[in-house]
Amino acid sequence: MSDVRSGPCQWETVIGLEAHVHLRTASKLFCACPNKFGGEPNTRICPVCSGMPGALPVINGRAVALAVQAGLALGCAVNLHSLFSRKSYFYPDLPNGFQTSQLEPPVCSSGLFRLEASGGTRVNPEIRINRIHLEDDAGKCIHMGSSCSMVDLNRAGTPMIEIVTEPDLRSGAEAAEFMRQLRKLLMYLDITDGNMEEGSMRCDVNVSLRPFGAKEYGTRAELKNLNSFISVRAAVEFEEERQKEILEAQGAVEQETRLFDPESCTTRAMRSKEDAPDYRYFPNPDLPPIILTQAFVDKIHGSLPERPEKRRERYVETLGLHDEEASLLAASAALADYFEAALALCSSPKRVAGLILGELLPEASRRSVAFADLGFSPARLAHTVTMLEQGKVSLKVVQDLFSELLDSGESVEKLAEKKGLLQVSDAGALEQAVLAAIEANPAEAADYRAGKKKLLAFFVGRVMRETKGAGNPAVINELVKKHLGA
Ligand SMILES: [Zn+2]
Repeated sequence: MSDVRSGPCQWETVIGLEAHVHLRTASKLFCACPNKFGGEPNTRICPVCSGMPGALPVINGRAVALAVQAGLALGCAVNLHSLFSRKSYFYPDLPNGFQTSQLEPPVCSSGLFRLEASGGTRVNPEIRINRIHLEDDAGKCIHMGSSCSMVDLNRAGTPMIEIVTEPDLRSGAEAAEFMRQLRKLLMYLDITDGNMEEGSMRCDVNVSLRPFGAKEYGTRAELKNLNSFISVRAAVEFEEERQKEILEAQGAVEQETRLFDPESCTTRAMRSKEDAPDYRYFPNPDLPPIILTQAFVDKIHGSLPERPEKRRERYVETLGLHDEEASLLAASAALADYFEAALALCSSPKRVAGLILGELLPEASRRSVAFADLGFSPARLAHTVTMLEQGKVSLKVVQDLFSELLDSGESVEKLAEKKGLLQVSDAGALEQAVLAAIEANPAEAADYRAGKKKLLAFFVGRVMRETKGAGNPAVINELVKKHLGA
């Protein structure tokens, strides 16, 4: 050890990460209770998820499919045979006295995640995935002051996957970036809602130091329950300094679990770290093994969408969208699929993107529903775009009528027709209005003819007013020029 005490640059940080991800399913992992955040305490529970003796769990097939999907997206091998085990520990919000998890074999193993830009000093480092296993979440303790704590089991039984990396991360910045990119990918695939404030994604980080060039790992500390990217980075960076001080003073780092305090940005010891044997894992006798067919796995593999970064690139390069529009559309596979389905039926990527981002998503957010629940099919969106392209309705009218369009189920031109808002592109009808406007404003007409070409807008405005906004401005422009001279 004598050659490693000479300075701060002598240490290499080694980080392995365990990401806990809530799965987006309708019901919990082993019962039919709704899988939903919050709610009045203990209103979303049943004998299974509240750990009543004799209640029997039944596995949620959708959760298994999502775990397999996550595994395939992360380049893992899917184990056709995997097993649920009981991981025993005591905590008041864990009524069974064990968590149902997977030890060996887990549902997926051996994957790879390539960090796009590392956030650290390395370029696109590859982070190996050790395993992905399925497990259920515990309930929550609500501490009511120093003498009373209450237990809420609404969260108990929430389906989760734990994604465990190899110790391939090298800095707090990289670890935070890994979480950020992992979240983006899993949200894109609709595997999780990714809501970190509600605990849908959190992670434990194992940090150790070793002398640069050493093969052996140092003793690690596990930092528990980090629920923001900032915390991940800050906790690792505090821990690097703490361990460096110990090592440089010839001390020994303890293997322990530590808690990060976001207020002070420090970590403190919580307990000495358990190893697997401490949990007395054993196969859960209430649950049969998960046995998957290769056909099931192949089907999920075949349905994996194009990677989001590829999609974004394609939208910019071949469809001519702005980078920001492309990123927003490619943030969710479902949204990108919707965009492409509509685009297949009409011809203007710009207009389709514009209506999705400018009307559909804001309307969904105003109504607090998912955009898919608005019930506006890609075909209707494409039809609306075609009506715009053909000049049957103006963009202004579509924007004004959009909410009604969603509710009425009618086509945009029907709705516009009823309200007298169909765009008039018929030169004959508009010509009358143009001539009337010229006749009614002889002074402006004379000024225009004398060279005040800015008055074009004045005449177009008059005609638009006359036609209640339904005149096609491009046609009116041409007609005014025709009668007053270009
Ligand atoms: Zn339940």
